[in-house]
Amino acid sequence: MSKDTYEEAIAGLRKLLSEKSELEAAAVAKVRQLTAELAGATEKPAFDPIERIRSGFEHFKKENYEKNPELYAELAKGQSPKFLVFACCDSRVCPSHVLNFQPGEAFMVRNIASMVPPYDKRKYSGMGAAIEYAVNHLKVENILVIGHSCCGGIKGLMSIPDDGTTQSDFIEDWVTICKAAKAKVQRESKDLEFSEQCTLLEKEAVNISLGNLLTYPFVKEALIKKTVSIRGGHYDFVKGSFELWNLDFNLSTSLSV
Ligand SMILES: [Zn+2]
Repeated sequence: MSKDTYEEAIAGLRKLLSEKSELEAAAVAKVRQLTAELAGATEKPAFDPIERIRSGFEHFKKENYEKNPELYAELAKGQSPKFLVFACCDSRVCPSHVLNFQPGEAFMVRNIASMVPPYDKRKYSGMGAAIEYAVNHLKVENILVIGHSCCGGIKGLMSIPDDGTTQSDFIEDWVTICKAAKAKVQRESKDLEFSEQCTLLEKEAVNISLGNLLTYPFVKEALIKKTVSIRGGHYDFVKGSFELWNLDFNLSTSLSV
């Protein structure tokens, strides 16, 4: 965001807050009252986000940080993760939990539907920077793209009407990165129910991402030199299962040295 835009946004917010301050106070009081009523009815204390953050860190420090002084002394010197992992933003699929990655083990990128966009310096510089840093500087040996069950982003992609009309500022445009996978599912599995098509798309979208990784010259080069391996995965939290597959390309014919 440019400086002007940032300042304009802050000024706009101040104006809005001063205009709405009375309304705001009334709304806050109402929310407090409702929360108190609800808490009384269920005998549960109201959720306190600051307390949750404080107790969460306290638990981590006591149970993990202070019990692993050698690990944290090593990590203070630098990181040397073996994995670059792409995962969805979904709160249910954190790879550190699902695959038990410890601090320093996995360099992670999380975005809507765990998609790797094709190389594009202007449109996807944030993603490009993460991939470049992981491959060129950290020299990760493994890249893993993980899709998952009940993915809202994939459902969103599957739900975009054929005329391409969108209703969001960013989400639908982002997930169309994997529109070729959607076309494949619609073509090959048109008789399946919507939810079954979504499950197939969760995996086919990973394959598009694996292919898109090859559009980054440094990834392609590392793959040819065999210094990096690329894999796709699918975590199903309904069944409690994890599928893993290799990049399904014949490198000798699809890549030139
Ligand atoms: Zn998701």
